[in-house]
Amino acid sequence: MSDSPDTDSPSADALARAAALVAEAAKVCVFSGAGMSAESGIPTFRDALTGLWENYDPTDLASPAGWRRDPDLVWGWYRDRAVRLREVAPNDGHLAIAELERLKRASTGRVSVVTQNVDDLHERAGSTVTAHLHGSLLGPRCEACAHRGEAKLSLAAERPRCPECGASLRPDIVWFGEMLPEREWHSASEAVAACDLLIVIGTSGVVRPAADLPLLAAESGTPIIEVNPEPSALTPLATVYVESTAAVALPAII
Ligand code: NAD
Repeated sequence: MSDSPDTDSPSADALARAAALVAEAAKVCVFSGAGMSAESGIPTFRDALTGLWENYDPTDLASPAGWRRDPDLVWGWYRDRAVRLREVAPNDGHLAIAELERLKRASTGRVSVVTQNVDDLHERAGSTVTAHLHGSLLGPRCEACAHRGEAKLSLAAERPRCPECGASLRPDIVWFGEMLPEREWHSASEAVAACDLLIVIGTSGVVRPAADLPLLAAESGTPIIEVNPEPSALTPLATVYVESTAAVALPAII
């Protein structure tokens, strides 16, 4: 017998309570983090600093100061991640969330997906994403003007120039110390305020202000399901904590 929890076989009681909450809710909001995509083969932020990148500090690769210091280095890091993203596919957890959206729509309900992830795996599974709070690996933007480049430019080996003003394009990612895009934050807060069930998946709940969204739900008495193989900073807010991974637990709940 082992003392460690078996995250491949989550507790039947937790699954049943989570499934009952999902069945009762008309407006579901999903709030996902890096753990959502882990079983697709996308490492969480710190896990991603392997191989060529293991000697770098995340703040050198994901901050305005790092970009100013060495934009080619930062461009190369995000380009590698964009290339890797093309080689992976949505996992059973992403697919279950897309299926939930279809089921709720058929009964005049809805599902809003708010993600901290910069990948497009929710979209590729068939979900409509309400907000990418931390930006996207696909489609760079100008560092100086409002121009946005096509998604395929994210794969360019050399940093592309802005066709409008000639400045450099940069990854469309919210870096450490940067503000969240106002429109995305507004849409995310509205989706959380309007939902009658919040499902929190694969986030450590320490990156603010994104991590404040579950607090908003808890303060208005909205039930919260958390799916995470490890307890997180958000576990105390959960009505039901499912100690398992996204690809195992979500198909079982939904
Ligand atoms: P985090 O790395 O801080 O935490 C990941 C969480 O996922 C942990 O609590 C971990 O226990 C859990 N987890 C690990 N495997 C899981 C699984 N299979 N199923 C469910 N949960 C699992 O991630 P965060 O809270 O999202 O914050 C880090 C930031 O890094 C985010 O802002 C995000 O933008 C960025 N990021 C995004 C991606 C992506 O787009 N896929 C990848 C790495 C980092």
